[in-house]
Amino acid sequence: MFHPVMCAFCGESVEKAEPDPCALILLTNWRSLSQDQAEQQFFTHAACLLSRMYSEVVAEAGVLHQRNELRP
Ligand SMILES: [Zn+2]
Repeated sequence: MFHPVMCAFCGESVEKAEPDPCALILLTNWRSLSQDQAEQQFFTHAACLLSRMYSEVVAEAGVLHQRNELRP
């Protein structure tokens, strides 16, 4: 059983359909000590995230691509 989640970018429900739902982890103060950092998780469609990333970053986001060669 899973809980329905909302995409942080489009506001629609993120159904279970590979690679969705995706969890986007935000870590603040990345260069600081862990006690000065905070972490929050957001849900997203892979497509919504990819559509908002800079093109060079999209190319590096291998886990989000449907036919990822690194997957077993
Ligand atoms: Zn979305």
